[in-house]
Amino acid sequence: MKKHSIRRLILNFCLTFFGFFILSGVAITVSFMLFFHAYELPIDYIREFAPRTFFNLVFMSLVFGILGTLWRMFTVEKPIYEINEVLRKIRKGNLDSKLNRRFYTSRYSAIVKNINIIASELSTIDNLKVSLMSNISHELKTPISVISNYAELLQTENLSDEKRIEYAKSILDSSGKVNELITNILKLNQLENQKIPSSMTEYNLSEQLCECLLGFENVWEDRNIDIVTEIEDDVTVVSDMQLMSIVWNNILSNAFKFTPEYGTVSVTLTTGKKYAVVKISDTGCGIPEGQTELIFDKFYQCDSSRSTDGNGLGLALVKRIINLTDSIIKVESEEGKGTTFTVKIHKN
Ligand code: ADP
Repeated sequence: MKKHSIRRLILNFCLTFFGFFILSGVAITVSFMLFFHAYELPIDYIREFAPRTFFNLVFMSLVFGILGTLWRMFTVEKPIYEINEVLRKIRKGNLDSKLNRRFYTSRYSAIVKNINIIASELSTIDNLKVSLMSNISHELKTPISVISNYAELLQTENLSDEKRIEYAKSILDSSGKVNELITNILKLNQLENQKIPSSMTEYNLSEQLCECLLGFENVWEDRNIDIVTEIEDDVTVVSDMQLMSIVWNNILSNAFKFTPEYGTVSVTLTTGKKYAVVKISDTGCGIPEGQTELIFDKFYQCDSSRSTDGNGLGLALVKRIINLTDSIIKVESEEGKGTTFTVKIHKN
């Protein structure tokens, strides 16, 4: 036990000892005086009994002092010392430190419970941080090694123009991937620290959907993808226009990415009582059963064979925006047949 704890125990002993001694002393003296007065006992009798009573009082005070100190040691000093030790370990980063609630009185049990909860929450955050770092490093590793390999090849003498352009294009593609990854991480980080959307306005959702869809014109033309639209005119919603365009672009880019040539991507916009409902469907590879909820996790990609394009952050961003803007998202998918994302946004 530490020096200051021992000092506290000695102080506690002195307080209990003298407290008991003074209080009992006063009570006994008063009782004796009344007793002797009532029975008019001789002074010799008093002289004989007074020292005995005094020593009895000292003895009783000693016993109470020791008992009080022991009680305080086991019910106050020891738990506080142990709680403090665990907090010190947690502060140093040892997040596995735990206290066993069974060994504490109800006074400390709530504190111990909260310390254990804090330790396990910190440990979860710590694990998430580690897995996030390893995911980021993993995602950066491939494009960076592609860039360095092609940069090395570009230094080869007598390189044909064709090869030079090909290598430069590969470097450009990979640096684009790094750029996209970093932009997504920064955006996600910004949104995770944001509690409310920065600008909720009433705007024309029909126009926004058409504009986002037109942004993929090259893709659907190149890959002969059929586009089916059923978009009600001039549907207005109250949301963050900029953030919602990130949602449509991510869902549409996945729809086009996972739909094979001659497939179909359809976009519908209808209105209900409270919500405007957007459905984006594709006839692509679909999502394996049981994974539809996981696709919103950071860096989650269903099948490594299809994960060459993208970084698994798009739908994490979508989910965060949906939560921030108080919207609703639902995904239905059948492997090999296609996927439908349904988004509901408040009308006003
Ligand atoms: P990525 O950059 O890999 O597309 P996302 O977060 O946008 O990351 O998507 C996560 C994963 O969800 C994708 O890798 C894919 O496996 C699955 N996914 C998303 N949308 C679709 C879709 N329309 N069809 C099939 N799989 C999809």
